[in-house]
Amino acid sequence: MDTATDPVFPLYSVTFVFDRGEGTETETTSLMRPWLFETDPGVAEVERQAHEAWPNLTWRTDTHVVRRLVRIEVTRKDDVPWALAWFAHQTFRAGRTDAELRDSFERYVRKWERYQDDLSNNPGVPCLMGAEDRWRWQPLCACDSCAEKGVALIAH
Ligand SMILES: [Zn+2]
Repeated sequence: MDTATDPVFPLYSVTFVFDRGEGTETETTSLMRPWLFETDPGVAEVERQAHEAWPNLTWRTDTHVVRRLVRIEVTRKDDVPWALAWFAHQTFRAGRTDAELRDSFERYVRKWERYQDDLSNNPGVPCLMGAEDRWRWQPLCACDSCAEKGVALIAH
């Protein structure tokens, strides 16, 4: 199992810079939903999708507050086998069974778990958000949206 090679996917970081009348604030959405793609769409396409997503972002549901969008900052990150969502990790199935996906996630977690106590001194290390504890892992998400997009999502 240690010798298996896990497919990696292009990840982006998207930060919304906005003003609600008290100066400029920023919100990076990558924690709520990773901007992970099966094939690389390129920066311009991610920017287009981010502009489209802006009016519907869940953290903007306090609709009485007017937020003026100042700009969107899109950064291409390194390719990853798994990307962090909110107490969940996401990848793409890429023809893998549930068991193969869980093995892949296990490899990812075991690779990074030893650094979790000291993330601030290990800037390249991804946060696992509790996935170190295997008992937290839920079955792979079986919703229609994941099935349609070939997404594999493990909540934990
Ligand atoms: Zn789902």
